[in-house]
Amino acid sequence: IPALRIENLSKVYDNGFEALKGVSLSVEQGDFYALLGPNGAGKSTTIGIICSLVSKTTGKVQVFDADIDENFPAAKKYIGIVPQEFNFNVFEKAFDIVVNQGGYYGMQAPLARERAEKYLRALGLWDKRDVPARTLSGGMKRRLMIARALVHEPKLLILDEPTAGVDIEMRRSMWDFLKKINAEGTTIILTTHYLEEAEALCRHIGIINNGEIVENTSIKALLRQL
Ligand code: ADP
Ligand code: ADP
Repeated sequence: IPALRIENLSKVYDNGFEALKGVSLSVEQGDFYALLGPNGAGKSTTIGIICSLVSKTTGKVQVFDADIDENFPAAKKYIGIVPQEFNFNVFEKAFDIVVNQGGYYGMQAPLARERAEKYLRALGLWDKRDVPARTLSGGMKRRLMIARALVHEPKLLILDEPTAGVDIEMRRSMWDFLKKINAEGTTIILTTHYLEEAEALCRHIGIINNGEIVENTSIKALLRQL
């Protein structure tokens, strides 16, 4: 089974705007997949629906063996989400932000603390564990959200524009980290509007424009066309 299968997804927002017009795509287990498209294309809407943060109008989303409508608890456990907006409590300490996310997945505190240490170290944030998140730089906040998304060691990691506003050096070290996590077996999907980022990281790519998938191919095949 694929890590993610989306069938004929549509989204009409309350104001009548049709953000997704029948999106279908499938991501194999172990893949590193980019959803590439300009601002406003429908990337965040798609990600939001997969994570049940946004309601869909029609369509079907299956994460491994779990349909998000029929078995949300299982789908939730499979997914780690790194949203585009910083959405943690900025007065909380970095360590506590990661540990508390473990609680959201029903993890016991000792395990959540162990994982928080593991991922804060891996992301170069261990020195910052006891400072309130508001004092971290933008790039550090982004890495904190990645550590938080990994606390329950999800099989599928989804990142919405993970390197937006991150400087080049930091971007490269985030890329290396994501490649390592993927090599260790985590399926990764990210949205981006940089072809360069998709090219550096991903094996497969879906290009979305105006709420429609206009291309779905391997990076190699896409680069041959250009
Ligand atoms: P992307 O992530 O590719 O930039 P989004 O999924 O955020 O695109 O947005 C797709 C389109 O849907 C955009 O035109 C955006 O303005 C619109 N949109 C997003 N959220 C809402 C909303 N809550 N109500 C109405 N329109 C929205
Ligand atoms: P809030 O609206 O206060 O952010 P939520 O319940 O929406 O509260 O989210 C709490 C935390 O759980 C956030 O860190 C959010 O990113 C995460 N979260 C919410 N829904 C999901 C989901 N479906 N899968 C994974 N993480 C989620």
